[in-house]
Amino acid sequence: MKKNLVVIGYGGMGGWHCEHALKSDTVNLLGIYDIKEERRTLAESRGIHAYGSLEEVLADKRVDLVTVAIPNDSHKEVVIKALDAGINAISEKPVAMNSAELEDMIAAANRNGKKFSVHQNRRFDVDFLAVKALRDSGEIGEMIEIESRIHGSRGIPSDWRGEKEHGGGMVLDWGVHLIDQMLRIIEDPIDSIHCVFDHITNQEVDDGFRLTICFEGGKRAYIEVGTYNFIAMPRFYVRAKQGTAMIRDWRENCQVVKCKHWHESEVVPVQTAAGLTKTMAPRDEVTVDTYECARPISDVHNYYRNFCDAIDGKCEQMVTHDQMRLVMHVMEAAFESAESGQVVKFKFN
Ligand code: NAD
Repeated sequence: MKKNLVVIGYGGMGGWHCEHALKSDTVNLLGIYDIKEERRTLAESRGIHAYGSLEEVLADKRVDLVTVAIPNDSHKEVVIKALDAGINAISEKPVAMNSAELEDMIAAANRNGKKFSVHQNRRFDVDFLAVKALRDSGEIGEMIEIESRIHGSRGIPSDWRGEKEHGGGMVLDWGVHLIDQMLRIIEDPIDSIHCVFDHITNQEVDDGFRLTICFEGGKRAYIEVGTYNFIAMPRFYVRAKQGTAMIRDWRENCQVVKCKHWHESEVVPVQTAAGLTKTMAPRDEVTVDTYECARPISDVHNYYRNFCDAIDGKCEQMVTHDQMRLVMHVMEAAFESAESGQVVKFKFN
């Protein structure tokens, strides 16, 4: 039987949750609640029931779960109220403003015996799944370094995302997705973190960042979000022991160049304007295979399917409390590094 869902916050993402819930085989949308009357009126005009208050939602015995899609600084309060009312809760990302808030939310879930998770929907992105599939297949060998970038040129949105008190900034906005994805691809313990912030169009919060994660054992991850990039760099660039992979744009397939023969008998030097180079000479089909990977199949509805199955005790929730903790600690280390200008030794694996 479908689980009854109420979406708290009927803004951009709340609207997305409603749209998907209306097509879901897993959840039944009972309605929404938004503090703004105009948003409640809009929902009603679209045939979606609008509750008059949060208390009304929490008192409705039919509600199995809420999805909390409101600005980041309010996730904790609403999630804990829902859990204390005996309702399972999904928080939008970032799950909370910091680890202390997250621990309070986890404690509320535990004391009420309810499920609580965060909507890391970008685990269903096809580009991420393609890199993960490449890691799993081992076809270009062990990964050495993965670069994950998102570049736009419109600055940071001019709403609450530009304000520190509401949890604005790109680390908490896009960073949380890219960090979560990266930690699903490289699962080694983290050794250290270094991060630099951009403040190009916004002085209050980071409007972009460059984050390096060094893992124990030597693998590295580089995560970059830019909102002032008029030429975008590739979405993913992967160097592995037997080749290189790249996804230029999230709409494009993963391109792979796999090394077949390391040694070449005859390398033809390349002429550059001021000299010759053999080291940087391109390879040919004798020593490398060049191909595109098939696009992985992805179904974002699996997020709610998993959460509902977890409520029924049929499986573990796909985004676990420990995974949420780790991502939050990485973001906190990124802030610490950006503020101090130092590499931060990581302590929370
Ligand atoms: P938004 O500003 O478009 O909408 C927020 C809505 O919440 C507004 O309508 C506002 O009136 C309402 N609201 C504020 N406080 C409330 C409260 N206490 N109770 C009820 N309603 C309240 O913002 P958005 O883009 O929808 O973002 C909301 C959340 O979703 C944020 O945490 C954001 O990070 C997240 N988000 C996630 C994704 C994703 O892909 N997972 C994408 C966008 C946004």
